[in-house]
Amino acid sequence: MRFAYEVGTRLDGQHGRTGVITTPHGTIRTPAFVVVGTKASVKAVLPETVAALGAQAVLANAYHLFLQPGSDIVEAAGGLGTFMNWPGPTFTDSGGFQVMSLGVGFKKVLAMDTAVPDDEVIADGSARLATVDDDGVTFTSHLNGDTHRFTPEKSMRIQHELGADIMFAFDELTTLMNTRDYQERSVERTHAWAARCLAEHGRLTLERTHRPYQALFGVVQGAQYEDLRRRAATRLASLEVDGRRFDGYGIGGALEKEKLGTIIGWVSESLPEDKPRHLLGISEPEDLFAGIEAGADTFDCVNPSRVARNGAVYTSRGRYNVNTAAYRRDFGPLEDDCACYTCTHYTRAYLHHLFKAKEMLASTLATIHNEWFTVKLVDDIRDSIDAGRFRELRCEWLGRYRSR
Ligand SMILES: [Zn+2]
Repeated sequence: MRFAYEVGTRLDGQHGRTGVITTPHGTIRTPAFVVVGTKASVKAVLPETVAALGAQAVLANAYHLFLQPGSDIVEAAGGLGTFMNWPGPTFTDSGGFQVMSLGVGFKKVLAMDTAVPDDEVIADGSARLATVDDDGVTFTSHLNGDTHRFTPEKSMRIQHELGADIMFAFDELTTLMNTRDYQERSVERTHAWAARCLAEHGRLTLERTHRPYQALFGVVQGAQYEDLRRRAATRLASLEVDGRRFDGYGIGGALEKEKLGTIIGWVSESLPEDKPRHLLGISEPEDLFAGIEAGADTFDCVNPSRVARNGAVYTSRGRYNVNTAAYRRDFGPLEDDCACYTCTHYTRAYLHHLFKAKEMLASTLATIHNEWFTVKLVDDIRDSIDAGRFRELRCEWLGRYRSR
């Protein structure tokens, strides 16, 4: 089976919709939250658990797997899914985000009230481990200090070796702190890189017919600027190289929290209806509702598992930390009525104890709950679109979530 996408139910007056993505390793009902397994492992949990908590797909990172163990090893193992024992659909991101955010302390979603535009956050300052030019990015490995270079062609070769069902074009990362002038030049650069990715992807696809088809998504940048986002999306939508177009689109870059839905809306309007759209690096409940309403079909983010390993627990009434003393003698579940494995078998007091005792099981159990929570929220939103009650769910759900 090759790659396909089919629209299901549309959200009245908005770009949001349900649908189904078909890949050589199975289907993804959208909207869907894709669980992140950066280094070909969803930290602290078995792939069987990832499947049991409802995840439909896993996303790994090209930068990390290129450095360790090497994309050639993943290829020799039979590709990402086989290597990590995940039989379902897989994604890899291009590595651009990781390479270019090295040393910047990049935040994906920013409140803009403290921001002052300054290109030094992306230009080659003393703290930076990466420098960008028109051809690619030179960076220093965070593991051993070795110097490497990524270009659009290199990212495509790495991602073809990794063998995920869905890959992303190599794009330049900017932040909301960059000037408008820099954002304009960056969008141009990302577009030129997108064309080079499509060309190299076409060449590799023809060369590698023994492997299942890998879909390539172009990535829309343009920060918070309407004209830049629309132009970037429109040009990527019509980009064709050697008769080949993108199979879907990623929406990248930093997003201003208050305008997230508006920005996704501009992009969705400018992209073709019949191709899926992935919003990179988003998992906060408000952002998921806003992104889905505005037309995003899939999401990924390390956050649910990353914060879980520090004891932060998502619930439908907000987030709390199970490390705090209040939970020492609390024999209720992490969240009342949660049907996840952790909540049906363990108490807050037990998790509190595991975190205090630095037991590895703490991370496992907290990750299961947070990933379940995020996957299920997106699944519930999808069902609400199909049932014609998205707005009711959003109102109910966010009202309760913010009440804490
Ligand atoms: Zn739970």
